[in-house]
Amino acid sequence: MPAVRVRFAPSPTGYLHVGGARTALFNWLYARKTGGTMVLRIEDTDQERSTEAHTQVILDGLTWLGITWDEGPYFQAEAGPKHKADAEQLLGEGKAYRCFCTKAELDAAREAAERAKSSFRYDGRCGRLSAAEVQGRLDRGEPFSVRLRMPDEEIAWEDAVHGRISFQGRDLDDFIILRSDGTPIYNLAVVSDDIAMRITHVIRGDDHVSNTPKQIALYRAFGQPTPVFAHVPMILGNDGKKLSKRHGATAVGDYQNQGILPLAMRNFLALLGWSPGGDREVLPEPEMIALFSLEGIQKKAAVFDTTKLEWMNGQYLSALPAADLLPPVTRHLAEVGVSTEGRDLAALVDAVKVRSRTLLDIAHQVAVRVDGSRVTRDAKGDALVAKLGDAFPGNLRLVLGVLEGAEWTAPALEAAVKALAEAEGKKLGDLMQPIRVALTGGTVSEPVNELLAVVGRDESLARIRRAAGL
Ligand code: GLU
Repeated sequence: MPAVRVRFAPSPTGYLHVGGARTALFNWLYARKTGGTMVLRIEDTDQERSTEAHTQVILDGLTWLGITWDEGPYFQAEAGPKHKADAEQLLGEGKAYRCFCTKAELDAAREAAERAKSSFRYDGRCGRLSAAEVQGRLDRGEPFSVRLRMPDEEIAWEDAVHGRISFQGRDLDDFIILRSDGTPIYNLAVVSDDIAMRITHVIRGDDHVSNTPKQIALYRAFGQPTPVFAHVPMILGNDGKKLSKRHGATAVGDYQNQGILPLAMRNFLALLGWSPGGDREVLPEPEMIALFSLEGIQKKAAVFDTTKLEWMNGQYLSALPAADLLPPVTRHLAEVGVSTEGRDLAALVDAVKVRSRTLLDIAHQVAVRVDGSRVTRDAKGDALVAKLGDAFPGNLRLVLGVLEGAEWTAPALEAAVKALAEAEGKKLGDLMQPIRVALTGGTVSEPVNELLAVVGRDESLARIRRAAGL
């Protein structure tokens, strides 16, 4: 077996879509697992839609996700002369032919097929022209495209994900491989490059399944062995429809901006259509690589579940030391104009990170703790106020009475509130929850004594007074 060589071959016509990132990831995992080589090839043959900015976004997205490549980026458009030469080689060998049909002729044939309610297939008429006829047309300077002569034989492959897939050559067109301006059609460019780059495994989205028989016909025409094909399933939104902007963000960069950690995103993407077996979900890189296999890729479409992504992100956030989270959290805080100067930001981050789903969430919760003007009562806070009625301000006033004289450390604050509950015959929760609402606007937070400590004495007392209507 030759050493594994895989490639990620994005077209730089837009941002890095999560589906593309997942394809890149599977290629990368397979390369790392097998000790093979990961090639990055930018398929920029569509010169009108491809831009350098898009290429940069793709490279940045891969780098952010920690998906590294060993060769490239190669730019497909640079191989234009080679693609043309390859088409000419097939022409010379009679495996391809010149097609002089004009657009008007082809359009008319297509319309006739539509009228007859049959699907259009090029009838191969130019493939039957005599050599003299071809020469005459060339001498007259007639433009031509080049078509592959599709053999009348079965074209099948053992897909590493789907098993055997088979097509009949006679059901496929003599498709164009070179346009009349000498530029290659996608299928020729891909096969020509994959042969030149000695790609052994083509791992890509299963929207390419219909291209594969055409590509295999080209491998055969070139007398080259075909690579292993692994077509990975589509990604759907949670309504079962193909993932699109309607479902929310589809660009990797959007998740970066929303405060998803790159390793959490990568872990989440790995599980879209691949299962490591068992119920393992949080997978450190070495395990992900060790467990990865093409056989583990599922046939059925995967569902992009944002709640699961946030859960995954929460798992990574809780496991990281605050120090690692400080730079991005500081950046997000600066963006919303919150200064944390003179504050122990690491303590603040530690206080909130286990209950956070994203870096933005952490930044928001830190902001609420350092800046009282950011406290807004949420629905659960409102519900508590309604439920307790007069006891809400009443209990807060009782609390104030003991907190004002308490030593401002988490253990002392806890002891003070507990003693108050006992002395007053109150449920502890009826004292604690109003403090939470007064300090954060909501009913979920770190333990109340820690919350008081982190917000600080003067600010805590001020917020409690305000909530108590004092
Ligand atoms: N450039 C193609 C795309 O972005 C991928 C080609 C391939 O993987 O064979 O869909």
